Amino acid sequence: MRKLSINGGEPTREIFLPYGKQKIDEEDIEEVIKVLKGNFLTTGPKVEKFEKAVAKYVGAKYGVAVCNGTAGLHMACAVCGFKKGDEVIVSAMTFVASSNCVLYTGATPVFADIDEDTYLIDVEDIKRKITKKTKGIICVDYTGQPVNINAINEIAKENNLYVIEDSAHSLGAEYKGVKVGGLVDCTMFSFHPVKPITTGEGGIITTNDYELYKKMKMFRSHGVTKEEDEFLEEKEGLWSYEQQTLGYNYRITDIQCGLGISQLKKIDKFIERRIEISNTYEEELKKIDGIKLQKQKGDVKSGRHIFIIRLQLNKFKVDKKTIFESLIKENIGVNVHYRPVYLNPYYKQLGYKKGMCPKSEKLYDEMITIPLHVGMENKDVLDVINGLKKVLEFYYRG
Ligand SMILES: *Cc1c(COP(=O)(O)O)cnc(C)c1O
Repeated sequence: MRKLSINGGEPTREIFLPYGKQKIDEEDIEEVIKVLKGNFLTTGPKVEKFEKAVAKYVGAKYGVAVCNGTAGLHMACAVCGFKKGDEVIVSAMTFVASSNCVLYTGATPVFADIDEDTYLIDVEDIKRKITKKTKGIICVDYTGQPVNINAINEIAKENNLYVIEDSAHSLGAEYKGVKVGGLVDCTMFSFHPVKPITTGEGGIITTNDYELYKKMKMFRSHGVTKEEDEFLEEKEGLWSYEQQTLGYNYRITDIQCGLGISQLKKIDKFIERRIEISNTYEEELKKIDGIKLQKQKGDVKSGRHIFIIRLQLNKFKVDKKTIFESLIKENIGVNVHYRPVYLNPYYKQLGYKKGMCPKSEKLYDEMITIPLHVGMENKDVLDVINGLKKVLEFYYRG
């Protein structure tokens, strides 16, 4: 079915442009084929090689790769010891996985609001939400921009809390000149196809803490260890292994890690392109009336994972929903990242209520994610800008 544009004419683009997409080349494909022809499809050498490569790239001592980023967050929460009765402070402006992982452990997520300009977790609101039960903070490098790590680590130290950084958006991003990944207790990177690099599904936790690392390796594989020097009981024979805790099967395959190793080689180039596209967007969009852009802090290098425009709705005759739908009709694959977690029915049923994090809710009402991915051509970037201009001009008030 042909889509007609708002003014009844042709849409800005003939072909739909998705908001995010992987970029796979021949080299990536060759690497995967090599694994398929080898001896190990899982629990083989590619897994450790990928873990070491990611850890080295981000400047962390250890990495434990898992089947997806959400499993990684669960693993991190588990080894940090979160349990029923504990509270963990989570940014309200994130994907549900950042807080579901707390629920998996039986602990309670407590949502903190965002800073009005950067849309990152508000350090002052973290402080307000700390109680005697608080055991950790899960902060999110939302859109690829690192959170205020020094301030968060300081609060954590004062209150004896673990910090888990959800860096699903920010592989390769820097805080004060240092890559994220080794700056807090546990950092999670996701390798879903829309993320900075991909393994299909996949994730990793990086850490500098040897004890957490050892616990994570067990947690990933049923709570089992095969290492003799860790055995709690007398070794029974060469076949011996011990299950010491209740773990899961959260392993990643060698096939995925082969792809990951190849993808990681391109991350710096990928980020360069993301920055280029974002800079063009910023230059052009700041000229358009009715759009506000996310503040970029001076002391970080964002991975530029997601590009958000914020609509000044009083300038338009219609609401966000109508503008969003019009952009889809222009074949521009807009999206929304995210509805504040606690506004989902599951969380409401747990007792969370509208109004808890007003700044996150206001952003949700006003924001639209526009396409940003490495495979976009300059022509695609211009299409997005022109499509936006067309739609917004159509709906200006008076
Ligand atoms: C993608 C994402 C996750 C989950 O990662 P998966 O690998 O899809 O499980 C968690 N948090 C944020 C902010 C994400 O964008």
